[in-house]
Order: sequence, then structure tokens, then C-alpha cells
Amino acid sequence: MARYGMVIDTRKCVGCMDCVVACETENSVPNGYARDWIKTELRGEFPNLSMEIRSERCNHCDNPPCVSCCPTGASHVSGPGGIVKVTANRCIGCKACLSACPYGARFVNPSGYADKCTFCDHRVKEGKDPACVSVCPTHCMFFGDLDDPKSTVSQLLTSRKWHTLLPEAGTRPRVFYLT
Ligand code: SF4
Ligand code: SF4
Ligand code: SF4
Repeated sequence: MARYGMVIDTRKCVGCMDCVVACETENSVPNGYARDWIKTELRGEFPNLSMEIRSERCNHCDNPPCVSCCPTGASHVSGPGGIVKVTANRCIGCKACLSACPYGARFVNPSGYADKCTFCDHRVKEGKDPACVSVCPTHCMFFGDLDDPKSTVSQLLTSRKWHTLLPEAGTRPRVFYLT
């Protein structure tokens, strides 16, 4: 069984938003909503400050509170790869998952169901990279199997320093940021 994850090199990200546009196009994201977004943050301590630019999305957490809180089972972990998904026709739009996600990764689609990044599983099934990964002009995003020690994502995580978002939340995110 694979365990999919994403590794993003913040040293290469220029904040161009190509990943955001690619996601909107690929996934017909409704106007005014986003499955991914760019965040800039000052990191470090004076005088060793740096500006980190990050492409953020659902972290497809290993311990996802959005799944455990869902009263209908609409939010679920889907195999292979353990992608966290929503079955639209089982979702009652109660927003429990929106409150449970510490990352603000979800929104209610105008059609009434909880929506978010799917790791582009429809592309991954065809052996392609997610849309955001495939368009990045600086090639700062990588997608693959975290359980395969030979995968690019695994090798980057053993050779570079990285962090995840809000590790203290205990969700065990599977999107990693190289620093
Ligand atoms: Fe759920 Fe939020 Fe984690 Fe995505 S980032 S799996 S929506 S808790
Ligand atoms: Fe589940 Fe939908 Fe409620 Fe989210 S909004 S907790 S997916 S029923
Ligand atoms: Fe959007 Fe797909 Fe990238 Fe997720 S993996 S942010 S759904 S393009």
C-alpha cells in the first residue's frame, strides 16, 4: 500500500500562483473558492530571518479530524495511497469538518458539499502528477509514495530539512515543506 504525500521546496517557490490557477482549471473550482493558495511567512529569528513562500492545500493528514468528526462517513480515507476525500452525495453540508480542520483546507461548494484538494487522484490513477505539481515553473513540488524509500519525496525528506504545518495539532500532515 502506498502512502501518498507532497514535498514542496520553499526555497524554489516564487509565489507565481500557477499552482492555484492550474487547480482551478483542472478541478473546476467555483469562482471565489480555492483548493490551494499561497502563504508568505517570516521564519527564523533576528538576524537570521527569511521569507518563506508556501503553496498550501489539504495536508491529507494521517490522523484526520475531518474524517473522525463526519457524521455520515462522507469524509473518508480512500485507498490506495490514503488520500482524504469527500463523497459529495453522502455529505449533508453540516460543516463539522470545516471546523475540525486546523488548516482551513475545506469549503462548502455552492452545490452544498464539503470540497477540498483531492491530491488530483483522478490524475494520479493515470500515472500523472497532480495538476499543481505538473505546472510549477520552478519544479518546487514533488508528489509520491512516502512509504517507498526510493521515491523522490522520501529521498528529499531524508536529505533536506523540512517542517509541516501546525504539528502540535496532532494531525500528522503529509504535505512537507523543505526549508
Ligand atoms: Fe482533513 Fe484538514 Fe487534514 Fe485535510 S488538512 S486531512 S481537511 S484535517
Ligand atoms: Fe461530513 Fe459533509 Fe458534514 Fe463535512 S460537511 S462533516 S463531509 S457531512
Ligand atoms: Fe488542486 Fe490537485 Fe493540487 Fe490538490 S493536488 S491542490 S486538487 S491541483
